Amino acid sequence: MTKEQEFFAYLKEIALLNEANGLLEWDSQTGMPQAGAANRAEVSSYISGLAFEKKVNQTMADFLAYFEKNEAELSELGTEVVKKVKEEYELNHNIPTERFQKLMKATSQAHSDWLKARENNQFSDFQPILEEIVALLKEFIPLWKKDEKTPYDVLLNQYEPEMTTEILDQVFGQVRDGIIELRKTIAEKGTKPRTDFVHRHVSKEQQRSFVTQVVTQLGYDFDRGRLDDTVHPFMLDLNRNDARITTRWNEEDVAMATFGVIHEAGHGMYEQNIAEKYDYTPLGGGTSMGIHESQSLFNEIIIGSSKAFWKKQYPLLQKITAGTFADIDFETFYKGLKETKASLIRIEADSLTYPIHIIIRYEIEKMLFNGTIEVKDLPQIWNDKYEEYLGIRPENDLEGVLQDVHWSGGSFGYFPSYALGYMYAAQLRHAMNQDIDIEKIVASNDYSPIRKWLTKNIHQYGASRKPNQLIKDATGEALNPQYLLDYMKKIYFDVYNISE
Ligand code: ZN
Repeated sequence: MTKEQEFFAYLKEIALLNEANGLLEWDSQTGMPQAGAANRAEVSSYISGLAFEKKVNQTMADFLAYFEKNEAELSELGTEVVKKVKEEYELNHNIPTERFQKLMKATSQAHSDWLKARENNQFSDFQPILEEIVALLKEFIPLWKKDEKTPYDVLLNQYEPEMTTEILDQVFGQVRDGIIELRKTIAEKGTKPRTDFVHRHVSKEQQRSFVTQVVTQLGYDFDRGRLDDTVHPFMLDLNRNDARITTRWNEEDVAMATFGVIHEAGHGMYEQNIAEKYDYTPLGGGTSMGIHESQSLFNEIIIGSSKAFWKKQYPLLQKITAGTFADIDFETFYKGLKETKASLIRIEADSLTYPIHIIIRYEIEKMLFNGTIEVKDLPQIWNDKYEEYLGIRPENDLEGVLQDVHWSGGSFGYFPSYALGYMYAAQLRHAMNQDIDIEKIVASNDYSPIRKWLTKNIHQYGASRKPNQLIKDATGEALNPQYLLDYMKKIYFDVYNISE
């Protein structure tokens, strides 16, 4: 065996442990009896501990030191893989294990405190543990830091490599102002669509039959995936031949699971189409949270907002629901699906207002880490921003600052990925449309050119390219939020009958 082959075999052991843990995780969120949680935590933490140890132990250090000196022995693939492994190795290298364990313990405590605070509807129950998490992260930032400009950049980069607050301030500012402007025009000149029929009863079986056919056409491969029920929907990739999706159903709201499954299928398609050569290496997954979200949102808000797409799919829904929507013509149906309305809860937001929810969180997180506010100020600032940007004010913490799970997990810097996904998706649409006629394809029986374009430009690379490079190579320019604003304007002006 060459040293490189030895190294790949070693990485495969880590990948196999991660895969085993992934299956345990999938099971715990889909089928596991509730009482099994404590036992499951035992086995999960044992296996992830084994995987973590292998990533940071002396064997790994020796491999990296060897390839540092003997770069010439590496194949092209080997060079790509070593680079990624080294990045991961160096990230946590300076954090003392004891401090890391303290953070792990704090986040696990924070989850139950967050649940308790939600039950009592008061932020003060969550505040002390959140203060501890923020303090620990502030302690870690200088240890993680390489050349990032501000403390918040360090957090941001863990989810979106090479993204900066400097870029986000500019693009998020543009998107925020653009959406506020659009909403103003819609309020002044728009005609509200009819939406009551969206809440007609459609059985879970009917919804499942419909959306399964839709995502199959979009390119999600059920021979290499499956769809299960859960409480908080997610996609979980064990490997590119087993990328599973989940959803929750509401028989009185056909839109929820339909868009939900279309979204998760986009995540699954990304994983299913990563090049085989990256199997069992850290390159065999998506490159960042933002790019991953761009793939799910391409399905959900680009294709899922297309009138031509729904014109093609509506007859199928009508057939499966056997008369439920017989009195609803296509135009009414489509417009009802795309209603926009300010809401307090992020996960219930429509595709126009959603980015505002994210931008609010970004602005707050940045203030918290770059120094102008404290944890105790969060509820007030949260409510003020909702009032300023969306014109609605939370009446309590449950409708406001306590709604998301992310902060309890210490995941500061994660939220921007969602809004980046929106912008990337719209920019990819623009570039794709130069090569293939998207509207014509979504009206046809063969959607494969879209999936193939995404595989060629995004999926196949796995984590071997950084997000900004992928976007530049695929679209010919750096991140540009104007494409999202243009697309939203086109969709919502049509839905609200506004002529330019
Ligand atoms: Zn997603």
